[in-house]
Amino acid sequence: MRATTQASSPAEVKHGTVAATRGEPVSPIRPSPRHTDRQGPGNHDPYDLLIIGTGPAGLVAAREAVAAGAWVALIESRHIGGNCLNEGCIPSKTMLRSAQLIAEMRNAPSYGVTAPAEISVDFAAVMARMRRVRERILRVDSPARLGDEGIDLHVGHARFVGADAVAVDGTRLRFRKALIATGSRPLLPDIEGLAAAGYLNNETVFALTTLPPSLLVIGGGPLGCELA
Ligand SMILES: Cc1cc2nc3c(=O)[nH]c(=O)nc-3n(C[C@H](O)[C@H](O)[C@H](O)COP(=O)(O)OP(=O)(O)OC[C@H]3O[C@@H](n4cnc5c(N)ncnc54)[C@H](O)[C@@H]3O)c2cc1C
Repeated sequence: MRATTQASSPAEVKHGTVAATRGEPVSPIRPSPRHTDRQGPGNHDPYDLLIIGTGPAGLVAAREAVAAGAWVALIESRHIGGNCLNEGCIPSKTMLRSAQLIAEMRNAPSYGVTAPAEISVDFAAVMARMRRVRERILRVDSPARLGDEGIDLHVGHARFVGADAVAVDGTRLRFRKALIATGSRPLLPDIEGLAAAGYLNNETVFALTTLPPSLLVIGGGPLGCELA
């Protein structure tokens, strides 16, 4: 998959999954001969694979490509771990674990176990645990760890400046193949009065430290049901 200037359009970067092609057949990455004497991370010109986004897609792709012997650049503009670690799967599943524990304690008698007389929830402690879990997982994907694995992490907003080059805050990185793994961001739905009323989304709700007295969840899909 070869990125072209077409892939640099904001829409494709925003919604992107894989770099656009110019009708070329998709070919595997062919690591260049220098990988046989890999010395460790550093700047390479060109990179065999340049990946935009450190969510699950970008991280897995980077590790697989390094394992195949490729020189890999990984670019992130916000948080390492992407949506999943910071504002998605991990915080939501960590909170769900606390909710599950409460449900099990309440349901203890059906297992022949005496339920505690009083079950109380310390919301701030639930959220503090969520942040600890996030930090623990982040250690596995820390910049130092990625560097040790041979992945060059570049922090900044990536934009295409040519068919074989990306600029990251003033640094130009050339590549042979590019992967756009930029995931998604929440969109403000077209609901009259919502913006004025104020709202939380997945980028803000997991930063709460006090339990709101009430919460209206709009949207009954998997994420809305989880949150409710
Ligand atoms: C509340 C919630 C719960 C979820 N629970 C689950 C679950 O249980 N299981 C599951 O499988 N999925 C779950 N998901 C979905 C999951 O989070 C996403 O599918 C997953 O994060 C997508 O991964 P990704 O690598 O494609 O993109 P992302 O994780 O979105 O990562 C993309 C990264 O690219 C970066 N980026 C974007 N543009 C640029 C640029 N121009 N330059 C540099 N960096 C850039 C972004 O900052 C971001 O870090 C959940 C989502 C939410 C919101």
